[in-house]
Amino acid sequence: MAVSPLDDGSYPEPAVDKGGAGQGLWRVGVLAAFFVLAALAFSFMGDVIPVEVTLGFLGILTLIGVFSLFALAAGLFRIARSEDGRGLADAAIDSLPYGAVISDKDGRVIYANAAYAAVAGGRDDGGPPANVPRLFVSNPEASEAIYRLTRAAKEGRAAYEDVRLTAPLAAAGAVRQVRPCWYRIRVTPLPRVDAGGAKALVMWSVEDISRDRDTQENMFLELQRAIDYLDHAPAGFFSADSNGRIQYLNATLADWLGYDLASFEAGAIRLTDIVPGDGAGLLVGGRPDGEIQTEIIDLDLVKNDGTAMPVRLLHRVARLAEGDLGESRTLVLDRQRGADVSEDLRTAEVRFSRFFNNTPFAIAALDADGRIVRTNAPFMRIFGNEGGERATSGLPLSELLVPDARQKLTDALSAIAAQKSQIEPVDAVLSADTERSVRIYLSGVEQGGDSDEAAIAYTLDTTEQRLLQQQFAQSQKMQAIGQLAGGVAHDLNNVLTAIIGFSDLLLLHQRPNDPPFKHIMEIKQNANRAAGLVRQLLAFSRRQTLRLDVLDVPPLVDDLSVLLNRLIGDNISLKVEHSGDVWPVKADLTQLEQVIINLVVNARDAMPDGGTVKVNTRNVTESEAEGFTYRGMPPAEYVLIQVDDTGTGMASDVMDKIFEPFFTTKDIGKGTGLGLATVYGIIKQTGGFIYPESEVGKGTSFRIFLPRHIVTHREAVERQVTQKVRDLTGDERILLVEDEESVRAFSAKALESAGYKVFQAASGLEALEVFEEIEGKIDLLISDVVMPEMDGPTLLREIRKQMPDLKVILVSGYADQDAREGLEDDQSVAFLPKPFSLKQLAAKVKSVLLDESEEPERESAD
Ligand code: ADP
Ligand code: MG
Repeated sequence: MAVSPLDDGSYPEPAVDKGGAGQGLWRVGVLAAFFVLAALAFSFMGDVIPVEVTLGFLGILTLIGVFSLFALAAGLFRIARSEDGRGLADAAIDSLPYGAVISDKDGRVIYANAAYAAVAGGRDDGGPPANVPRLFVSNPEASEAIYRLTRAAKEGRAAYEDVRLTAPLAAAGAVRQVRPCWYRIRVTPLPRVDAGGAKALVMWSVEDISRDRDTQENMFLELQRAIDYLDHAPAGFFSADSNGRIQYLNATLADWLGYDLASFEAGAIRLTDIVPGDGAGLLVGGRPDGEIQTEIIDLDLVKNDGTAMPVRLLHRVARLAEGDLGESRTLVLDRQRGADVSEDLRTAEVRFSRFFNNTPFAIAALDADGRIVRTNAPFMRIFGNEGGERATSGLPLSELLVPDARQKLTDALSAIAAQKSQIEPVDAVLSADTERSVRIYLSGVEQGGDSDEAAIAYTLDTTEQRLLQQQFAQSQKMQAIGQLAGGVAHDLNNVLTAIIGFSDLLLLHQRPNDPPFKHIMEIKQNANRAAGLVRQLLAFSRRQTLRLDVLDVPPLVDDLSVLLNRLIGDNISLKVEHSGDVWPVKADLTQLEQVIINLVVNARDAMPDGGTVKVNTRNVTESEAEGFTYRGMPPAEYVLIQVDDTGTGMASDVMDKIFEPFFTTKDIGKGTGLGLATVYGIIKQTGGFIYPESEVGKGTSFRIFLPRHIVTHREAVERQVTQKVRDLTGDERILLVEDEESVRAFSAKALESAGYKVFQAASGLEALEVFEEIEGKIDLLISDVVMPEMDGPTLLREIRKQMPDLKVILVSGYADQDAREGLEDDQSVAFLPKPFSLKQLAAKVKSVLLDESEEPERESAD
């Protein structure tokens, strides 16, 4: 039961144990003294003390000894118990990862572990380490904390303090670091070990917590940076709790509103302080349906000075785990700045409406039933009727279209409903204006939200396009028919030539009084009539050669009116009127006459019960032409020939076809359907335009526009010459070759009455004979082209051998082109188409004879 010395016995400081162990020693001492006194008493008073007492005393001692042996064996007590406990405590303290020291209340160090020694270092004189207060005494940064801890130690309280030193404790290793060091100093009173009233002990510990502090410090820095980012964001931000107290406000917003952030305390500013009136209500509490979503709220915030500031709030309230509403997160966008978001929005809106309304497309949003929800401005223009205004909203789009287009639209809409991607555009005609055609492109709209729009219809006005297409198709058709007609006419011409030729051959062997003669003549005449028709066909197919002259239309019409009057009969009156000084045109005289005759004859046919036909001529200036809406006619100066009647008129489906060859509404034998086709061909070939206009029951008018011809100087001189020579008489010698007797007789008579000396021949061969007889003394040869035995061109060649400069007129029932075909040099030959009038013959003869130096002018338009 000896008291062991401190195992760390290297320091002789009187670390004497005065605790429980000291009391034990005292008791042992008392016991030992008792035994010494007892031994002395036995040695000095052995005679006096009876033996029984001595034996009894020894017996008691023996009993105690035996009992003690048994008790020890049974473990009732242990020897050197306090020695064991001490070792365990020391081991525990030594194993602590930080410096620990046990000292008494006055600060005397009783025990220090190795870690403490490492922190505090040993004393220079090899004594025990300084206690904790002394360790830090030289560091003013720790003085306060040490003072508080010392007091706690004295009062027997546990306490700890974290102290920050700019440099680590001097003794803490050789490495001197400049970075700050953190220590956690803790004082813990130890429970009293025994009841002996010894002084209470305390344990001090010193822990280097710099490392923990480092991470803490980094986190702190990061947090500070994050706050800085948020504070100086270009937008305001605040958060309010469910009671409307502002918990956080970033610096930007504080700056905008004029609050000093340094004195800001969470909850000091209320939502109602910065959001006026009902606005605060919008921000407190979630949406009624409980859904959490970001709301966009535009309102004015109140600044600290009471002024307003327009902002847009992006507001969202978080929901806590229990389902209660938590704090809000509200982003504040300044709307008063020039280049802010709303400015962009506004310009975007303007830009959008410009795109939306300034497009050639009519745009309409349709709901699922195809009803119009909203439209753009061009929609009114395309779909509006005359007045322009027409409420279309709520109306099904299909009602604006003609009935047969409605199904197509409905189909397209159901394709959209089925989410098909390729929707065929719908071509339709408007119900309000059947002249108008449109093409509608449909596209689906993403369904959802509160929008009732299911589809967007983009409509393009295709009226112009459709008309052009129709026109194109029509002109192609006309061209195809023309080609066909031309081809047929040529073949027919050959057939007719043969018929006529063989008729002539037959006639050669007949005398006029023989019975077959009349029949053959009949055949020939009919063949000639057929040839006339062929000529018309050729005119339509524009394969005839026009003889273009500078013409004055009014005298032409006047000259024709005698014939026209005879054609129309007594119950129809003809009125001819010319306004002003009508410009000249360049056209083929006979062809133009034919045009007018055709139109007047048609007018007559349309007025079986009589009426009036008017033929007017006048100038059309370019500015007037600009006002016309006739298709295909460019604005220019024109001479207008207008033929009006008061007849039956015609329906539009008839009018669509009148220019087609063989189109007629007349009974078989009455109409050929070639009249207007010929007219059309001639006018087109002359560079003019013809437009009919008709009203059923009222009458019809045809307008022919011929381009004004600006007369050249040479043309002016020529015209003067021809106008001067108004008389068609002459005394020249003419050889007339014509196989058809009636024609020859008529022609000869006409020329002779005009003063000419005429020599007649019935064929080419006969003509050569006559030519010999009169010794070639002729000024002009007039010859038919198609004659038996020797035709016109052959005759011409023969005579030209002797008289190369002889003037020649070839008379032909065929298109000029074909008549010219057998000629090597056709330049010096004039043509006279059959049938011709007396006047035409005389004029032709005169002009050819007058034409001294120049060859007859010919121009071909093809
Ligand atoms: P045709 O006179 O032989 O019938 P056209 O080519 O001259 O052939 O005319 C074609 C058709 O145009 C006529 O059958 C008639 O139906 C119509 N037509 C032409 N001119 C008139 C008019 N002035 N009034 C009414 N219908 C007309
Ligand atoms: Mg006709």
